[in-house]
Amino acid sequence: MVVTIDLTYANDRMRNLILESISRNSPIDQNGYNIIMQDEPDLKRIKSRIEKLLDENDIRDFIVAENTEKENEIAILKKGDIEQLGIYLCTHCGVSFESEIQRIVHQRIHYIG
Ligand SMILES: [Zn+2]
Repeated sequence: MVVTIDLTYANDRMRNLILESISRNSPIDQNGYNIIMQDEPDLKRIKSRIEKLLDENDIRDFIVAENTEKENEIAILKKGDIEQLGIYLCTHCGVSFESEIQRIVHQRIHYIG
């Protein structure tokens, strides 16, 4: 499957890090802010690779979020920007929602079973 990494909200350092270590052979779209990774078996795998990368580089102010609007898309977001963008993140798995209500409804699944 094709996984898109949205770097619109990342800074230059983040973009360079991801380009160098995650997406070396992947095409970048015209504006340079979306990396399209072909033949990726697993979105979660890419997500955890980026999370590891952030951790290794001691970057604490960015997070990796799954886009609920677009399938197989993850975005690098700056923590301070999230609320301004109207994005609500599940505190358990990092999936993003457009409203607080949606997030609360979703978060229940983590407590069931
Ligand atoms: Zn969740």
